[in-house]
Amino acid sequence: MNIAHVTPVSGNIHEDRAQAIRDTLRDAIVDRRLTPGTKLSEIEVGTLFNVSRTVVRAVLQMLAFEGLVCTERNRGAFVSNPTPEEARQVFASRRLIEPGIINAVIEFMTPDAARKLRAHLSEEIRYQHERGARARRAEIKSSGDFHLILASLAGNAIIEKFMDELVARSSLVIALYGRSGISSCGHSDHAAILDALETGNAEKARELMLHHIDHIEADLDLRVKEGFALKDALAL
Ligand SMILES: [Zn+2]
Repeated sequence: MNIAHVTPVSGNIHEDRAQAIRDTLRDAIVDRRLTPGTKLSEIEVGTLFNVSRTVVRAVLQMLAFEGLVCTERNRGAFVSNPTPEEARQVFASRRLIEPGIINAVIEFMTPDAARKLRAHLSEEIRYQHERGARARRAEIKSSGDFHLILASLAGNAIIEKFMDELVARSSLVIALYGRSGISSCGHSDHAAILDALETGNAEKARELMLHHIDHIEADLDLRVKEGFALKDALAL
């Protein structure tokens, strides 16, 4: 029986609640408070948020659809653990999409849009100078937000949704494979991209964006780690 058809109001409340919990868990995954491989127990999530398992399942399904959670039969749901190949695919996708976003943003670039990006940039830099885990998380989120604001200025809701997923997946990949473990983006790169956008130099902005994505990927250690066979690991 579809509850939503019988009691649409309560169905909507469930949907809103699921969406809010999804946002909370997504933020925790993206800013790396929940690391790859962490188990998301249905009972625990349900208790923490005071919702039924039906709502929890809907939340986990949404996160699985975005690639942030994987579910394993009989074992439950976990924060995704992307492979090196998936990590490469995330950045390959960004290299295809983000130069296109630059083209569109140049077209829609207004003084207001430039001000919005500048204000965001100064926020990124402020977090960079603050210390502590909280400031670090804020900085990581903020550097991803630069790419999301650009996507929102491109005037294409579907691209915006793609980028939302790609930035979230990037954050997961950086949590797993990042070498420096500090920021996911160089702030001087962002400033240079914005300078090129403001002067209407699409070619330079595209080039800088590609270079920037290469730069983020270059900080990852994607070598497949050779594990030992059990008997070698135990030196038997
Ligand atoms: Zn960046």
